[in-house]
Amino acid sequence: MFCPKCRCEFLKGIIECPECKVSLVAKLPPEEFVEFVKVFESANPNLTVIIKSILDDAKIKYFVKGEHMQNVFGGQLQFTPKAGIGNAEFLVSKEDEEVAKELLKAIDDK
Ligand SMILES: [Zn+2]
Repeated sequence: MFCPKCRCEFLKGIIECPECKVSLVAKLPPEEFVEFVKVFESANPNLTVIIKSILDDAKIKYFVKGEHMQNVFGGQLQFTPKAGIGNAEFLVSKEDEEVAKELLKAIDDK
């Protein structure tokens, strides 16, 4: 049995979570799924610093896939770094895609 609030598992026979005071359920609903889209890719470390500050200023949640793994989502997501060095990929949640793309439009990595 599981608590739908704190997602703790309890032994059979317990019907209420002592912490949350809610009835336990046999099965937990699936975790909220967040879709991420790549909005920028760059191998230029100077550029990645600029992009980070732009996204930070805009209060857009993002993470960078690449050399330096960064997790701004409270440790819920786990990614395996790719071997070797490559481009840093900026990913944002689907709902922030348009805003992020608009903000990063001015940056040219050519
Ligand atoms: Zn609970």
